[in-house]
Amino acid sequence: MLTAALLSALAMTVIVGVRYLLTSGLFAWITARVRPGFYARLGSQMRREIGWSLASAAIYGVPAGVVAWGWQERGWTQIYTDWGDYPLWYAPVSLLAYLALHDTWFYWTHRWMHRPAPFRIAHAVHHASRPPTAWAAMSFHPIEAITGAVVIPALVSLIPIHVALLGLVLAIMTVMGVTNHMGWEIFPRAVVHSRLGNWLITASHHQRHHESYQCNYGLYFRFWDRLCSTDRGLSDAYLPGR
Ligand SMILES: [Zn+2]
Ligand SMILES: [Zn+2]
Repeated sequence: MLTAALLSALAMTVIVGVRYLLTSGLFAWITARVRPGFYARLGSQMRREIGWSLASAAIYGVPAGVVAWGWQERGWTQIYTDWGDYPLWYAPVSLLAYLALHDTWFYWTHRWMHRPAPFRIAHAVHHASRPPTAWAAMSFHPIEAITGAVVIPALVSLIPIHVALLGLVLAIMTVMGVTNHMGWEIFPRAVVHSRLGNWLITASHHQRHHESYQCNYGLYFRFWDRLCSTDRGLSDAYLPGR
């Protein structure tokens, strides 16, 4: 039993690590194609980003692996596989609930990590990327990685979600984590400046966080930043289309 849980944790660590390498690698490759030389002189920084990110992969992988094992072997989680288990309207509600709750947790833990002591001890690692690159997506100190690693295991224990939608949540988390740190805006101007886009966080928004620090703390949505007056809009340097 313990061996199976350990093997699951190990397998999930490998999966998270490979997922990071493939996704960040893909967007770093796209960056090299569309913005040649964009990451020039950032070689040693990118090597550090990859090192911290692979360490984070283990911190994310262990609880995820144990929960995956618990789901399969013990029925621990609220993950379901039959669409008929819940009414169909619940599917988009659960997706939005996962994103909104993750965003809320991220906003407040992120603000806390900008207090002097937690910043110095942990969050400075993430901000050592100046400017961040596609490889910085999981570049966290282990303390910060733990605050991120507990989110999905906690949510799947509490809130029912179809396994396919959980996959979608993880895909959104992975792709937005990479593209928000890429240093340039991949979404078209029409999307970023649309009525809906004004409430969503893309690279133009998170880049300003990396420039100015005490603002733009959110993960997916600008709701908390707007409500708490910490939203300072988009970065000037990376406006879409430039
Ligand atoms: Zn960041
Ligand atoms: Zn920060």
